[in-house]
Amino acid sequence: MRVLVTGGSGFLGKRLNLYKPDWIYISSKDYDLTSSIKTKQMFRNIKPDAVVHLAARVGGIKDNAENQALFYYQNVMMNTNIIHEAYLAGIPRVLSSLSTCAFPDKLEHYPFSEKDFHKGSPTETNFSYGYSKRMLHVQSVAYRKQYGMNYSTFCPSNLYGPQDHFGSSSSHFVAALVHKFANLCDNKVIELWGTGTPLRQQLYVDDLCEIIPILLERHNSDIPLIVAPNENLSVHKMSQIITEVDKKRSVSFTFNGKLDGQYRKDGDNSMFLDLVGGYNFTSFREGIDKTYKWYIENTEEQ
Ligand code: NAP
Repeated sequence: MRVLVTGGSGFLGKRLNLYKPDWIYISSKDYDLTSSIKTKQMFRNIKPDAVVHLAARVGGIKDNAENQALFYYQNVMMNTNIIHEAYLAGIPRVLSSLSTCAFPDKLEHYPFSEKDFHKGSPTETNFSYGYSKRMLHVQSVAYRKQYGMNYSTFCPSNLYGPQDHFGSSSSHFVAALVHKFANLCDNKVIELWGTGTPLRQQLYVDDLCEIIPILLERHNSDIPLIVAPNENLSVHKMSQIITEVDKKRSVSFTFNGKLDGQYRKDGDNSMFLDLVGGYNFTSFREGIDKTYKWYIENTEEQ
């Protein structure tokens, strides 16, 4: 099967390339997916049998909060073009990545399940990004219902791991933490945003790279399938764990109370586990150890 991966130059795309080197990976330099003409050309030139759609405008809390219009426009355009042009080109299979960030800000029960996906507004800092992901779900369901296409979606929780965006303005929490910890000089106090209380399910990127090919084969339904580990750790706990990967450093953390983000967004992974027949997720301790080692070996700035 000829599989095309959008977002091939991104964090997840680059890691997936290591697992599935025979698939075809494209970036915005190859085809700007906000353009329907370029998207059409891409499908005409590559003629895939299936698409794994990972391309998106992605960022951390600050980037999301400050660029709501860009996040909305770019994501809605890319997603709309991918699904519609894939349909017009007769491509029967599209598997698209949503995110647990798109779930409602507050729910009455946790962990939430796939049924809760459209129940209330996403958190304020993810408002545009969250709704654009929800529309990708709506569009995939609509083309499934009206045209009988096998277009399905999955929601990974926060990703981290080697080749993440370390030390950039679009860094997510774990990447920023690894970068700060590794570059610590005389100052032994690391300042972190927020209060340290929010809870997160951190998904090791290579786990998802193993999972995507299985989902491409088996996930044939309208369910926005949650892919997340069981571990749901506070920001404070994650910060403690990183100090254990390099015991030579004695570090303390202060939390500045600014922009905490959503308090919790833990998802129930039981539908995913049923579909794939069980999966052993990498623990945060093991994943952060691998990520930190990769950072030290591969990054000049330290
Ligand atoms: P990333 O590192 O920011 O990569 C984004 C990718 O999208 C890049 O390859 C980028 O290409 C491509 N892209 C952006 N704008 C484009 C455009 N106009 N035309 C064509 N391609 C474009 O993101 P990621 O972290 O790998 O995320 C991959 C997917 O996983 C996304 O759908 C994201 O929503 C989802 N996800 C990520 C996380 C996470 O924590 N990272 C969590 C849950 C879900 P260029 O390099 O050329 O710009």
